[in-house]
Amino acid sequence: MRDEKYYTDIEAGIPTGQFRTRFAPSPTGFMHLGGIRTALYAYLLAKKHEGVLVLRIEDTDQERFVEGATEVIYDTLKDVGIIYDEGPDVGGPVAPYVQSERREIYQAYAELLVSRGHAYYCFCDKKTLDEQRAIHQASNTPHKYDKRCLSLSKDEVANKLSENISYVIRQNVPNEGKVHFDDAVYERIEVEVSTLEDQVILKSDGLPTYNFANVVDDKLMGITHVVRGNEFLSSTPKHVLLYQGFGWDTPKYIHVPQIMRNSTTKLSKRDGDAYYGDFIAKGYLKEALLNYIVLLGWNPGGENEKFSLAELADVFGVEGISKSPAIFDYQKLNWLNGVYLRDMTDGEFHAAALPYIRQTVKGDFDTMFIAKVLKERCELLTDIPEQVGFIDKLPEYSNELFINKKMKTDAENSKEVLNEILVTLQMVSIWDKETIHTALMELVERLDVKNGRVLWPLRVALSGKAQTPGGGIEIAVILGKDESIKRIGKALEK
Ligand code: GLU
Repeated sequence: MRDEKYYTDIEAGIPTGQFRTRFAPSPTGFMHLGGIRTALYAYLLAKKHEGVLVLRIEDTDQERFVEGATEVIYDTLKDVGIIYDEGPDVGGPVAPYVQSERREIYQAYAELLVSRGHAYYCFCDKKTLDEQRAIHQASNTPHKYDKRCLSLSKDEVANKLSENISYVIRQNVPNEGKVHFDDAVYERIEVEVSTLEDQVILKSDGLPTYNFANVVDDKLMGITHVVRGNEFLSSTPKHVLLYQGFGWDTPKYIHVPQIMRNSTTKLSKRDGDAYYGDFIAKGYLKEALLNYIVLLGWNPGGENEKFSLAELADVFGVEGISKSPAIFDYQKLNWLNGVYLRDMTDGEFHAAALPYIRQTVKGDFDTMFIAKVLKERCELLTDIPEQVGFIDKLPEYSNELFINKKMKTDAENSKEVLNEILVTLQMVSIWDKETIHTALMELVERLDVKNGRVLWPLRVALSGKAQTPGGGIEIAVILGKDESIKRIGKALEK
């Protein structure tokens, strides 16, 4: 499914016409869900266009660097199946893929831009810059560097450099005019250049700023499609000016909407809902989580919302990406997680659920049967220990539990019915679901009552709870005949 319009000519070393996209995280902590979504969209587009996904580590901001964060990025991407074709740990034709290893490249390109007049050396010290800022503040005008170093002559610059005066290199933004670009999601974006500052592109420590390194690398790595969060929309005009300064074509831009908890707040570390690892710890399946993440900001355009990674590579497309913020919906995530759990075979579910069952069920029970019962309603594996807690030990419960308006039960009629149930169950010789069911349905008929009049008190007596995975009959099977009879006897004593 090649789409010719996406193909552009790029640098040597990279096959001509190759569709190349990238994920360019900064290693500043754990993997944010928004980061995974960006990586996923970039990966899917690459797959769809038989292209390449590049992983590039943007670590030039030394202050924000977090030890171990790069490994978290590698591990998380591999864990969810986002396999990148080129990257620091897998190599590729345009290595190195870690920005801190590309220092000389940025210096050379910054100097190239200076020689073309689109950048200049700035020797202003902190004091000078603070004074400028104070003047702007006093006159209530938006602060912008006043370009004073632009007027330094070549000789003046050479002298200062030879005196080893500390400097930065700044982008020389034109004084007037407009700059625009076309985004696949947000369409045409146009800004007055007068709103942009002559930003620093190379810092005094010789390292590039994000904006500069990002542009140089996207070009040198042959990136044809840039997928990233819409928080970068406001930086893109500056990037476009840099491309123009170099005389390069810009890549295609695909900015994706923010992920929000609600209409005003973002997902946050503090609330434990920002990081991939938080969700895995909460018991979500990674396949379900990834499926949910793809839907945050992308609409598949049909009824089906459950997609494997392989299916997504076919159906995913830029057309479905929305401009509006994606609101994170736990209910939907839980539902989807439940769908994935139910789609497992009984064996798979048993294997996944067993560690959770065993947290509270230590006795000798048929965990395969327990798992079968759980599977029908389970949304989250981590709910299981609490749900099956009554199996080992009947919890204390109050007689009020027998009152159920819908079933028309109360403590009094439940007692009568439980007496009948006791006799009925004592006579059941084959202790399985069908036989118990038949026996109890005969009882329902004989008493001439609705099912609930029998099944509700049975469930309460066996579990001490109003809500259980499975109904009274299934619980009876799990507990076995002796324990079931014992618990009904206990209820009758109450
Ligand atoms: N390093 C930037 C970030 O974290 C990359 C932005 C981009 O994709 O251009 O998030």
